[in-house]
Amino acid sequence: MKYKLNFELVPDGCWKSNLRAILSPAAWKAVRETVVARAGGKCEICGAAGRLEAHERWEYDEERGVQKLTGIVALCKRCHETAHIGLAQLRGRGAAAEDWFMKVNNVSYAQMRAALGEANEAHRRRNRVPEWALDIDYLKNFLKK
Ligand SMILES: [Zn+2]
Repeated sequence: MKYKLNFELVPDGCWKSNLRAILSPAAWKAVRETVVARAGGKCEICGAAGRLEAHERWEYDEERGVQKLTGIVALCKRCHETAHIGLAQLRGRGAAAEDWFMKVNNVSYAQMRAALGEANEAHRRRNRVPEWALDIDYLKNFLKK
């Protein structure tokens, strides 16, 4: 990924890709607690201490239509909201997310807009894939530890 903090838009058809929707509540809780404990109470992007949220990282193989889980990280609310800028915009917090992106990455408005443009373009392209298959093998390794 290009920056410390990136705009990570999940394709519209990937509603199942929220692990919370796939795992049992107990399994999701275990994953979240492990991730947060591993982070030592600090956001893995900006270093802020406080309440942390588990954020899933995905890779998209557009040729094969495979959405692959590549990581789960503990993020503060601001970094998490910024990563999901589409959601932030729906909540009327798009500008706050843009500001946070610039601050954390130490980039200009133009650089932020370019990153957002790229994320939106990838999002549009991935939305043309009719169906995504989910690869969550990462989770098995993760749960063993
Ligand atoms: Zn953060």
